[in-house]
Amino acid sequence: MTITCPNCRTRQMRELHFHGQRVDRCTLCGGIWFDHGELNGALSRADNGNDDVGVEHNLGNHLGASPRQCCRCDDGLQYYQLLQDFRVEVEVCHSCTGIWINDSEREKVVQSPRVQSALEQMNQPTSTKTWLFQFLLKMPVEYNVKARTTPWVTYLLLALNILIFFGYNSDIQLAEQVFDAFALRSDYLLQGHHFGTLLSHMFLHGGLMHLLGNMYFLYVVGDNIEDALGSLRFLMLYLLCGFAAAAAQILSDPGSTTAMVGASGAIAGLFGMYLLWFRNASLTFMFFIYQKKLSPMVFFAIWLALNLVGAWQGQGSVAYWAHIGGFAAGLGLGWWLKPSVMRTNPVLAMLNSDSIKVRR
Ligand SMILES: [Zn+2]
Ligand SMILES: [Zn+2]
Repeated sequence: MTITCPNCRTRQMRELHFHGQRVDRCTLCGGIWFDHGELNGALSRADNGNDDVGVEHNLGNHLGASPRQCCRCDDGLQYYQLLQDFRVEVEVCHSCTGIWINDSEREKVVQSPRVQSALEQMNQPTSTKTWLFQFLLKMPVEYNVKARTTPWVTYLLLALNILIFFGYNSDIQLAEQVFDAFALRSDYLLQGHHFGTLLSHMFLHGGLMHLLGNMYFLYVVGDNIEDALGSLRFLMLYLLCGFAAAAAQILSDPGSTTAMVGASGAIAGLFGMYLLWFRNASLTFMFFIYQKKLSPMVFFAIWLALNLVGAWQGQGSVAYWAHIGGFAAGLGLGWWLKPSVMRTNPVLAMLNSDSIKVRR
């Protein structure tokens, strides 16, 4: 039996296979009618067979009456928000519990279970567990959408850095030889040799805490950025930020004879992209003993301020200018690539929307 489109009032509805469900779609306006149970079924399939999808039974706020009528029972449809924390409008019939979805809302509806679970993750409060973790290890806890793809390049970079470190670190003489050959020195580069160290210095670390700190941050932000970019582009941008970091450090002190090592500059580049693409994520910060979820914007502003102070004081063994240069490169690349990253990642785009208010 052909039914009438609630929107166009014509009998132009055709059967469509939509994520495993046979639904009715209007050939004129593209809207889709879901009979009772069909939307849950389709969304479960769209979300990799997640059986917990129950949006039909857990609709968000009632937003008032719609001008359209149900195509099964001629009752007036009612506007609802599909989710509690995110604005996706659907129209529901109170009599037969069928659901009408406009063409413009369809992609948002399909992605909504993933957005929902991301929001649950992002809205989690801090706990004794997260407090202890940060108190003991001095590292932030991340609240963000889970990466959908396995971040192979992130794992590869972690493995390389760790294996290389333990490869030379057991033997002081060997460590010295490795640093002589592969650490970055501004004076050598300006004399026109040791160009390979522009790459190799990123895979060496001066001490265990230096290594662990860098690897933890790479692990936290790397998976999401690799997921957003794809592995190959992720690797290229990671290295590019590392080169920019080295360039900044060389410019800050040309002719320096100090050897520079570490992945920090490349990872600082990831920070720049992270704060632009995951602005509703949170990282915890510990003010003495008080733990607070901060937006990446605020978190990395504090991190940048500490580096600027360090660079200004110019003391110690930390390559502050490399951090600042890598971060600036990441911000620039992140800003430039943001439109295409959002286009190819609808869930990310939805999580970036202004209507989302994350609890921190
Ligand atoms: Zn229509
Ligand atoms: Zn109805």
